[in-house]
Amino acid sequence: MNAWNPWHGCHKTSPGCANCYMHRRDQSVGRDPEVVYKTQAFDLPVKKDRSGEYKLAGGRELFTCGTSDFFLPEADGWRREAWEFIRLRADIKFLIITKRIHRFMVSLPDDWGEGYDNVCIGCTVENQQYADERLPLFLSAPIAHRVIICEPLLEGIELSRYLGPGVDEVVAGGESGMDARPCDYRWVLDLREQCVASGVPFWFKQTGRYFLKDGRRYTILKKLQHSQARKAGINYSVQGGP
Ligand code: SF4
Repeated sequence: MNAWNPWHGCHKTSPGCANCYMHRRDQSVGRDPEVVYKTQAFDLPVKKDRSGEYKLAGGRELFTCGTSDFFLPEADGWRREAWEFIRLRADIKFLIITKRIHRFMVSLPDDWGEGYDNVCIGCTVENQQYADERLPLFLSAPIAHRVIICEPLLEGIELSRYLGPGVDEVVAGGESGMDARPCDYRWVLDLREQCVASGVPFWFKQTGRYFLKDGRRYTILKKLQHSQARKAGINYSVQGGP
């Protein structure tokens, strides 16, 4: 999946942020990750070449705002224009993952209605507390495509009461990096069971660095974290579903 980072920089807001990849990377090059700025790629989706064609071909997915949070207060003045780019590129699917779903309505376009069909919002819930805080807001917001992201999964989470036809998928995964907190396979399997019982697709995306299974703790190299999760063979898709 391609990426579009219209702005960069962010503030830690909940336990899932403790080992934020963007913070680590910025600090490693002496940059302050808390400084939020508009990037040169701000208008990437609508950039055109000399012949007047969009530089970015349609029919793709764009992971949006992966080095910040789309709903950050500092970006309130930029977001309307970003939404306009998204509206103009109805031929691209934008995936926006946020820990600030409580700010979703700020600077929403006037013609948003029940949500643009080319926008999928991913709401991150890393533990029970944030599942219970964020998901009621998430489910009541006008969004056409919703994904619940349990990543980094920090404990077992009871999600059943939030699962139903309004949720396109649940994604689970561990945490990477040397300071990663372990991910217990039982939490992953439990989420899967909840999804199966509710008829919601489930994707075990990656194991994270430290993975607990059958009473053992495994250290999984970064390059193997996705493939190891795939090998578990526990993804669940719904026939005729998205
Ligand atoms: S919200 Fe995302 S980008 Fe911002 S600090 Fe947390 S993990 Fe990092």
